[in-house]
Amino acid sequence: MDGKLVAWDKAKIHPITHTFHYGGGAFEGIRFYKTSDGPAIFRLKEHTNRLIYSAKTIGMKPIYTKKQINDAIIATVKANNLDKGYIRPLFYYGYGKMGLDPRGCPVNLLIAAWPWGAYLGTKPVKCKISSFIRIHPDSTFSEAKLCGHYVNSILASLDIHSKGYDEAILLDYKGNVAEGPGENIFIVKKGTLITPPKGNILAGITRDSLFEIAKNEGIKVVEKNISKKQLLEADEAFFSGTAAEVSSISHINNNKIGNGKIGPITQLLKKIFTKAINGEIPKYNKWLTTIK
Ligand code: PMP
Repeated sequence: MDGKLVAWDKAKIHPITHTFHYGGGAFEGIRFYKTSDGPAIFRLKEHTNRLIYSAKTIGMKPIYTKKQINDAIIATVKANNLDKGYIRPLFYYGYGKMGLDPRGCPVNLLIAAWPWGAYLGTKPVKCKISSFIRIHPDSTFSEAKLCGHYVNSILASLDIHSKGYDEAILLDYKGNVAEGPGENIFIVKKGTLITPPKGNILAGITRDSLFEIAKNEGIKVVEKNISKKQLLEADEAFFSGTAAEVSSISHINNNKIGNGKIGPITQLLKKIFTKAINGEIPKYNKWLTTIK
């Protein structure tokens, strides 16, 4: 916390912390994996870049360099002595004043790391399109990972979990498919991988990694709008994200996708992605920061 290692049980934040009240914080979710060279953080540079971008959108002046942030993330992983897990860096407006304009509050940074297994489980997930749409792009900076955005994700999750589904899918304000509450979405149609374009989604780092893997495997990738009908008629569908990794979708609104099992292209991408994050494919080791 703010440059110091603090024991998990001793970590404290004042109740009159600005971000706690209004959601004006910027965060990341990062994973690190066990490799033969020790724990390795997946795409640390890209996560730190997005963290800094997100923080700037809400007026935070840089208080640390990229290197300082990366070093602090590495130090947190090391201090926890874990060989794989999840990392949560979060810039927040701290204790100083109330009122919506956060200027005048200190900018604080916390970084936590803990073990976290498969976010959506290991079986294909049953989804429902939520009645909550993703926040309108003119209401915010769509591509920033801001705490307050996640009220939208919480509402969509509560909506569909209460109806017995595993995960939500949010449409955008035009009625096209946007993403999951904490994941990007892909479909496969006639061998082509299709995913919604940037503009009304968080531009996922996993999404970007899958573009590169797909390209290397000769799979065509297209970023274009997906209608609800196209989604329901997909041959395959899956989520991508740091927490969810590659998670196959079996049903959407009770319609079976393909035969309800993980499809061949999803399976191939998942297999290669899993090997890449575990340091088993040399050409993708550029994505890994090993912790010595
Ligand atoms: N969309 C949302 C809303 C998310 O919270 C996440 C998780 N960060 C993603 C997409 C996937 O992004 P990434 O692959 O960078 O984790």
